Amino acid sequence: MRDDRWTRIEAGWLMDGSGAPPIRDAALLIQGRHIVEMGPAASVHRPGGLVTELLHPAATLLPGLVDPHFHAGYNGHVGMTQLEWPATLEYAAVCAGANAARSLSHGYTGVLDVGCRGQIAVATRDAIDRGVIPGPTMRASGQILASVGGPLDLWPPSFHVDPATRLAVTVTGVDEIVSVIRRQRGTGVDNIKVMVTASTVQATERGSSIAFTDDELRAATRAAHDNGLSAAAHAEGPEGVTAAVMAGFDTIQHASFVDDRTLDILEAHPRSTLVFTLGVYRSIIDRGPSVGYPEPARAHVIARWPEMLAGVLRAYDRGVPFAVGSDCGGAVHPHGLYAQEIVVLVRECGIPVEHAVRAATSTAAIAAGLDGAGRLQPGALADLVLVNGDLSVDPEHLLSRTQIERVLKSGVQVGGTSNDRPV
Ligand SMILES: [Zn+2]
Repeated sequence: MRDDRWTRIEAGWLMDGSGAPPIRDAALLIQGRHIVEMGPAASVHRPGGLVTELLHPAATLLPGLVDPHFHAGYNGHVGMTQLEWPATLEYAAVCAGANAARSLSHGYTGVLDVGCRGQIAVATRDAIDRGVIPGPTMRASGQILASVGGPLDLWPPSFHVDPATRLAVTVTGVDEIVSVIRRQRGTGVDNIKVMVTASTVQATERGSSIAFTDDELRAATRAAHDNGLSAAAHAEGPEGVTAAVMAGFDTIQHASFVDDRTLDILEAHPRSTLVFTLGVYRSIIDRGPSVGYPEPARAHVIARWPEMLAGVLRAYDRGVPFAVGSDCGGAVHPHGLYAQEIVVLVRECGIPVEHAVRAATSTAAIAAGLDGAGRLQPGALADLVLVNGDLSVDPEHLLSRTQIERVLKSGVQVGGTSNDRPV
């Protein structure tokens, strides 16, 4: 493939991922793998010679979307134990390949996998990088570090589940944590995931439920960073979020309840990025009964939903940057619903669509550790998506693959319904 080929795209609307308002009747010029120019169509030049022109006057052009809470290997479980049984590790690995391809076809060109059985995410990432399967640019985690007897220690001690096939690796104490992180580094992970708290959203009791000591959390981030890895915390309530931020985690995943004090701490520690995951809870409310989701847990989510929305709005109103991640993969919130995050931000939080898109592009790229992704700007890799219609009016279009007109990764079309592919 020649690297000097030109592609010029015209679109009815363009959002660059920065949060700036959409540009009407815009154009974007690509040479080879990179964006060279963009802006109002009349201002973007037409190079001489062979140029592929893609005209989409009724579509919105966005940066490739980024999901910083992805689980390639999750596929249809109801309840956490089904993540380890009866589906085999091999079945989960095959699903991971299919899910990687699916996310790309929905316009997601970058993801951070935040935990898998065995070494499925590393294998998926490598298969994508080697061109074996289509998929987004992926940063991979290994098994989730969880405390012995804690939220992801799913089986009674009399059950002997092969530790290598589990979702979590259970650890106690600084030495074990450091040892596991070094071992994961050896298997090729990019990120460490730590289950700092249980799920307070679905639990019937309230509590901070921090599963590790401060020393253990600090040891985890230090070992991750010393080994060149990022560190992600599953943390839901204000106490857990605060503990994770103070310990130096790069991403605070879920952060389902944040108060003003938590946001004060976040403002003082800009290294930590919030990754809200509202979509999965919206799905529990909307789709729970149809997939047999436990009704008491669903009722709990319904009761806490306004508080979750209020936390997001509190962060938004204070200008604390945040990303959104999908946590897709369970039966109640299957792969494909990644952009439900954007829809909830717009429809239920009343956030302007360009700011919702920012949370799923440029800020999501920072959270995912994908430097330079999530923005349409000269010099950036041409990862982008064209979705039918004016996204300000119809953000729901991102949920439907049939509304995705094109997905380009590094300047090459890799998905979408328009089949006049660039030459
Ligand atoms: Zn998750």
